[in-house]
Amino acid sequence: MFDLAGKVALVTGGNGGIGLGMARGLAQAGAHVVIAGRNRAKSAAALRQLRDAGQQASEIAADVTDEAQVAALFAQVRDAHGRLDILVNNAGTTVRRPPQDMTLDEWNLVMDTNLTSAFLCCRAAYPLMKAAGAGKIVNIGSILSIFGAPYAGPYCASKGGIVQYTRSIALAWAKDNIQANTVLPGWIDTELTESARAEVAGLNDRVLARTPAARWGRPEDLAGIAVFLASRASDFVTGTAIPVDGGYAIA
Ligand code: NDP
Repeated sequence: MFDLAGKVALVTGGNGGIGLGMARGLAQAGAHVVIAGRNRAKSAAALRQLRDAGQQASEIAADVTDEAQVAALFAQVRDAHGRLDILVNNAGTTVRRPPQDMTLDEWNLVMDTNLTSAFLCCRAAYPLMKAAGAGKIVNIGSILSIFGAPYAGPYCASKGGIVQYTRSIALAWAKDNIQANTVLPGWIDTELTESARAEVAGLNDRVLARTPAARWGRPEDLAGIAVFLASRASDFVTGTAIPVDGGYAIA
Protein backbone atom coordinates (compact mmCIF):
# COMPACT_ATOMS: atom_id res chain seq x y z
CA MET A 1 0.00 0.00 0.00
CA PHE A 2 2.91 2.33 0.73
CA ASP A 3 5.19 0.99 -2.00
CA LEU A 4 6.55 3.71 -4.30
CA ALA A 5 8.70 1.48 -6.53
CA GLY A 6 8.73 2.77 -10.11
CA LYS A 7 7.42 6.22 -9.07
CA VAL A 8 9.22 9.49 -9.71
CA ALA A 9 9.02 12.20 -7.03
CA LEU A 10 10.18 15.81 -7.22
CA VAL A 11 10.90 17.55 -3.91
CA THR A 12 11.60 21.29 -4.06
CA GLY A 13 14.08 22.31 -1.38
CA GLY A 14 14.83 18.60 -1.07
CA ASN A 15 18.50 19.31 -0.44
CA GLY A 16 18.12 20.08 3.27
CA GLY A 17 15.90 20.27 6.35
CA ILE A 18 12.35 18.96 6.10
CA GLY A 19 12.65 18.50 2.32
CA LEU A 20 15.54 16.09 2.72
CA GLY A 21 13.71 14.28 5.53
CA MET A 22 10.76 13.72 3.21
CA ALA A 23 13.01 12.86 0.25
CA ARG A 24 14.64 10.14 2.34
CA GLY A 25 11.25 8.68 3.24
CA LEU A 26 10.05 8.67 -0.37
CA ALA A 27 13.29 7.10 -1.59
CA GLN A 28 13.17 4.46 1.17
CA ALA A 29 9.68 3.57 -0.04
CA GLY A 30 11.16 2.94 -3.50
CA ALA A 31 10.67 6.17 -5.45
CA HIS A 32 13.33 7.83 -7.57
CA VAL A 33 13.60 11.24 -5.92
CA VAL A 34 14.63 14.37 -7.78
CA ILE A 35 15.72 17.12 -5.41
CA ALA A 36 15.58 20.72 -6.62
CA GLY A 37 17.27 23.65 -4.91
CA ARG A 38 19.49 26.60 -5.72
CA ASN A 39 22.60 25.71 -3.72
CA ARG A 40 24.44 23.09 -5.79
CA ALA A 41 26.97 22.20 -3.08
CA LYS A 42 24.12 21.51 -0.65
CA SER A 43 22.28 19.47 -3.29
CA ALA A 44 25.41 17.46 -4.09
CA ALA A 45 25.89 16.65 -0.39
CA ALA A 46 22.23 15.61 -0.02
CA LEU A 47 22.47 13.47 -3.12
CA ARG A 48 25.55 11.71 -1.74
CA GLN A 49 23.65 10.94 1.48
CA LEU A 50 20.73 9.45 -0.44
CA ARG A 51 22.90 7.41 -2.80
CA ASP A 52 25.16 6.20 0.02
CA ALA A 53 22.01 4.80 1.62
CA GLY A 54 21.39 2.87 -1.60
CA GLN A 55 18.53 5.08 -2.73
CA GLN A 56 17.70 6.32 -6.23
CA ALA A 57 18.03 10.07 -6.49
CA SER A 58 19.16 12.92 -8.71
CA GLU A 59 19.30 16.69 -8.42
CA ILE A 60 18.39 19.59 -10.65
CA ALA A 61 19.37 23.18 -9.85
CA ALA A 62 16.39 25.52 -9.96
CA ASP A 63 15.04 28.67 -8.36
CA VAL A 64 11.36 27.77 -8.05
CA THR A 65 10.28 31.42 -7.88
CA ASP A 66 11.36 31.85 -11.52
CA GLU A 67 8.79 30.81 -14.11
CA ALA A 68 11.38 29.96 -16.79
CA GLN A 69 13.48 27.92 -14.37
CA VAL A 70 10.40 25.99 -13.23
CA ALA A 71 9.55 25.22 -16.87
CA ALA A 72 13.13 24.00 -17.45
CA LEU A 73 13.02 21.90 -14.25
CA PHE A 74 9.89 20.04 -15.31
CA ALA A 75 11.19 19.63 -18.87
CA GLN A 76 14.33 17.98 -17.45
CA VAL A 77 12.26 15.65 -15.26
CA ARG A 78 10.10 14.73 -18.28
CA ASP A 79 13.14 14.14 -20.50
CA ALA A 80 14.98 12.05 -17.89
CA HIS A 81 12.06 9.97 -16.62
CA GLY A 82 9.11 10.46 -18.96
CA ARG A 83 6.82 10.85 -15.95
CA LEU A 84 6.19 12.58 -12.63
CA ASP A 85 4.04 10.83 -10.05
CA ILE A 86 4.68 12.85 -6.90
CA LEU A 87 5.35 16.57 -6.37
CA VAL A 88 6.34 17.94 -2.97
CA ASN A 89 6.30 21.74 -2.81
CA ASN A 90 8.56 22.28 0.17
CA ALA A 91 10.87 25.20 -0.74
CA GLY A 92 10.30 27.98 1.75
CA THR A 93 11.75 30.97 3.50
CA THR A 94 10.83 33.74 5.91
CA VAL A 95 11.72 37.29 6.90
CA ARG A 96 11.18 38.11 10.56
CA ARG A 97 10.18 41.72 11.11
CA PRO A 98 7.19 43.61 12.57
CA PRO A 99 4.54 44.30 9.90
CA GLN A 100 5.08 48.07 9.99
CA ASP A 101 8.75 47.62 9.04
CA MET A 102 8.34 44.94 6.34
CA THR A 103 9.41 46.12 2.88
CA LEU A 104 7.59 45.18 -0.32
CA ASP A 105 10.67 43.30 -1.51
CA GLU A 106 10.65 41.21 1.68
CA TRP A 107 6.92 40.54 1.35
CA ASN A 108 7.36 39.48 -2.28
CA LEU A 109 10.35 37.26 -1.51
CA VAL A 110 8.37 35.27 1.04
CA MET A 111 5.18 35.09 -1.04
CA ASP A 112 7.10 34.10 -4.18
CA THR A 113 9.11 31.42 -2.40
CA ASN A 114 6.34 29.89 -0.30
CA LEU A 115 3.21 30.34 -2.42
CA THR A 116 3.84 31.41 -6.02
CA SER A 117 6.46 28.65 -6.42
CA ALA A 118 3.83 26.06 -5.51
CA PHE A 119 1.44 27.50 -8.10
CA LEU A 120 4.17 27.41 -10.78
CA CYS A 121 5.20 23.85 -9.92
CA CYS A 122 1.66 22.47 -9.65
CA ARG A 123 0.75 24.03 -12.98
CA ALA A 124 3.86 22.51 -14.58
CA ALA A 125 3.19 19.10 -13.01
CA TYR A 126 -0.43 18.87 -14.13
CA PRO A 127 0.11 17.79 -17.77
CA LEU A 128 2.50 15.01 -16.67
CA MET A 129 0.12 13.73 -13.99
CA LYS A 130 -2.92 14.01 -16.25
CA ALA A 131 -1.13 12.03 -18.95
CA ALA A 132 -0.22 9.34 -16.39
CA GLY A 133 -3.82 9.15 -15.15
CA ALA A 134 -2.77 9.80 -11.53
CA GLY A 135 -0.76 12.15 -9.35
CA LYS A 136 0.06 13.11 -5.79
CA ILE A 137 0.75 16.68 -4.71
CA VAL A 138 2.04 17.38 -1.22
CA ASN A 139 2.25 21.07 -0.36
CA ILE A 140 4.05 22.21 2.75
CA GLY A 141 2.16 24.69 4.88
CA SER A 142 2.98 25.28 8.52
CA ILE A 143 1.47 25.44 11.93
CA LEU A 144 1.47 29.15 10.96
CA SER A 145 -1.18 28.26 8.36
CA ILE A 146 -3.42 28.18 11.46
CA PHE A 147 -1.84 30.54 13.98
CA GLY A 148 -0.56 34.10 13.57
CA ALA A 149 2.93 35.30 14.50
CA PRO A 150 3.63 39.01 15.11
CA TYR A 151 7.00 38.90 13.31
CA ALA A 152 5.93 36.78 10.31
CA GLY A 153 3.11 38.50 8.36
CA PRO A 154 4.04 37.34 4.85
CA TYR A 155 5.01 33.87 6.11
CA CYS A 156 1.61 33.41 7.78
CA ALA A 157 -0.19 34.84 4.71
CA SER A 158 1.68 32.52 2.35
CA LYS A 159 1.16 29.47 4.54
CA GLY A 160 -2.54 30.22 5.01
CA GLY A 161 -2.77 30.78 1.26
CA ILE A 162 -1.24 27.46 0.36
CA VAL A 163 -3.96 25.60 2.27
CA GLN A 164 -6.64 27.34 0.19
CA TYR A 165 -4.70 26.94 -3.05
CA THR A 166 -4.34 23.22 -2.33
CA ARG A 167 -8.08 22.88 -1.73
CA SER A 168 -8.67 24.56 -5.10
CA ILE A 169 -6.42 22.25 -7.10
CA ALA A 170 -7.77 19.25 -5.21
CA LEU A 171 -11.24 20.19 -6.46
CA ALA A 172 -10.11 21.04 -9.99
CA TRP A 173 -8.04 17.91 -10.53
CA ALA A 174 -9.99 15.24 -8.61
CA LYS A 175 -11.48 14.11 -11.93
CA ASP A 176 -7.93 13.44 -13.14
CA ASN A 177 -7.20 11.19 -10.16
CA ILE A 178 -4.77 13.72 -8.71
CA GLN A 179 -4.83 14.10 -4.92
CA ALA A 180 -3.45 17.29 -3.37
CA ASN A 181 -2.97 17.83 0.35
CA THR A 182 -1.12 20.20 2.66
CA VAL A 183 1.17 19.14 5.49
CA LEU A 184 1.43 21.54 8.42
CA PRO A 185 4.73 20.93 10.21
CA GLY A 186 5.00 22.16 13.78
CA TRP A 187 8.31 23.41 15.12
CA ILE A 188 11.03 21.36 13.43
CA ASP A 189 14.76 21.72 14.06
CA THR A 190 16.25 22.95 10.75
CA GLU A 191 18.38 25.84 9.45
CA LEU A 192 15.21 27.92 9.19
CA THR A 193 14.31 27.55 12.87
CA GLU A 194 17.93 27.73 14.02
CA SER A 195 17.87 31.35 12.89
CA ALA A 196 14.41 31.80 14.47
CA ARG A 197 15.75 30.65 17.82
CA ALA A 198 18.54 33.16 17.49
CA GLU A 199 16.24 36.04 16.46
CA VAL A 200 13.05 35.49 18.49
CA ALA A 201 13.59 35.87 22.24
CA GLY A 202 12.18 32.99 24.31
CA LEU A 203 11.14 30.92 21.29
CA ASN A 204 12.95 27.74 22.30
CA ASP A 205 11.36 27.69 25.77
CA ARG A 206 7.91 28.53 24.40
CA VAL A 207 8.07 25.73 21.82
CA LEU A 208 9.16 23.15 24.39
CA ALA A 209 6.53 24.28 26.92
CA ARG A 210 3.69 24.37 24.40
CA THR A 211 4.41 21.18 22.40
CA PRO A 212 2.76 18.17 24.08
CA ALA A 213 5.53 15.91 22.73
CA ALA A 214 7.91 18.22 24.67
CA ARG A 215 10.53 18.35 21.93
CA TRP A 216 11.33 19.99 18.62
CA GLY A 217 10.43 17.89 15.61
CA ARG A 218 13.14 16.45 13.39
CA PRO A 219 13.14 16.37 9.57
CA GLU A 220 12.65 12.58 9.66
CA ASP A 221 9.37 13.12 11.55
CA LEU A 222 7.91 14.29 8.22
CA ALA A 223 8.93 11.20 6.25
CA GLY A 224 5.90 9.11 7.18
CA ILE A 225 3.28 11.67 6.18
CA ALA A 226 5.10 12.25 2.88
CA VAL A 227 5.01 8.53 2.08
CA PHE A 228 1.36 8.25 3.09
CA LEU A 229 0.28 11.23 0.95
CA ALA A 230 2.41 10.01 -1.99
CA SER A 231 1.14 6.44 -1.94
CA ARG A 232 -1.94 4.43 -2.80
CA ALA A 233 -2.79 4.50 0.92
CA SER A 234 -4.11 8.06 0.52
CA ASP A 235 -6.09 7.65 -2.72
CA PHE A 236 -9.32 8.86 -1.04
CA VAL A 237 -7.62 11.71 0.88
CA THR A 238 -7.61 15.05 -0.90
CA GLY A 239 -7.80 18.76 -0.11
CA THR A 240 -7.02 18.31 3.55
CA ALA A 241 -4.38 19.94 5.78
CA ILE A 242 -2.66 17.64 8.23
CA PRO A 243 -0.64 18.92 11.20
CA VAL A 244 2.55 17.00 12.02
CA ASP A 245 3.41 18.92 15.13
CA GLY A 246 3.73 16.74 18.22
CA GLY A 247 0.28 17.96 19.26
CA TYR A 248 1.05 21.73 19.14
CA ALA A 249 -2.22 22.63 17.37
CA ILE A 250 -4.46 20.93 19.93
CA ALA A 251 -2.71 22.16 23.05
P1 NDP B 1 15.35 25.09 5.32
O1 NDP B 1 15.75 26.52 5.28
O2 NDP B 1 16.22 24.11 6.02
O3 NDP B 1 15.08 24.54 3.86
C1 NDP B 1 14.44 25.31 2.88
C2 NDP B 1 14.77 24.73 1.54
O4 NDP B 1 14.12 25.47 0.52
C3 NDP B 1 16.25 24.76 1.26
O5 NDP B 1 16.65 23.45 0.94
C4 NDP B 1 16.41 25.71 0.10
O6 NDP B 1 17.42 25.24 -0.78
C5 NDP B 1 15.03 25.67 -0.55
N1 NDP B 1 14.67 26.92 -1.21
C6 NDP B 1 14.46 28.13 -0.66
N2 NDP B 1 14.18 29.03 -1.60
C7 NDP B 1 14.21 28.36 -2.78
C8 NDP B 1 14.01 28.75 -4.13
N3 NDP B 1 13.72 30.02 -4.46
N4 NDP B 1 14.12 27.82 -5.09
C9 NDP B 1 14.43 26.53 -4.78
N5 NDP B 1 14.61 26.10 -3.52
C10 NDP B 1 14.51 27.02 -2.54
O7 NDP B 1 13.90 25.09 5.98
P2 NDP B 1 12.94 23.94 6.50
O8 NDP B 1 13.42 22.61 6.10
O9 NDP B 1 12.68 24.24 7.91
O10 NDP B 1 11.62 24.31 5.70
C11 NDP B 1 11.08 23.52 4.66
C12 NDP B 1 9.62 23.89 4.49
O11 NDP B 1 8.92 23.57 5.69
C13 NDP B 1 9.38 25.38 4.24
O12 NDP B 1 8.30 25.53 3.34
C14 NDP B 1 9.00 25.89 5.61
O13 NDP B 1 8.23 27.04 5.55
C15 NDP B 1 8.21 24.71 6.14
N6 NDP B 1 8.07 24.67 7.58
C16 NDP B 1 9.17 24.59 8.41
C17 NDP B 1 8.98 24.52 9.78
C18 NDP B 1 10.11 24.37 10.73
O14 NDP B 1 9.84 24.43 11.96
N7 NDP B 1 11.33 24.17 10.30
C19 NDP B 1 7.64 24.59 10.37
C20 NDP B 1 6.58 24.68 9.41
C21 NDP B 1 6.80 24.73 8.07
P3 NDP B 1 18.45 26.25 -1.55
O15 NDP B 1 18.91 27.23 -0.55
O16 NDP B 1 19.49 25.34 -2.10
O17 NDP B 1 17.64 26.86 -2.64
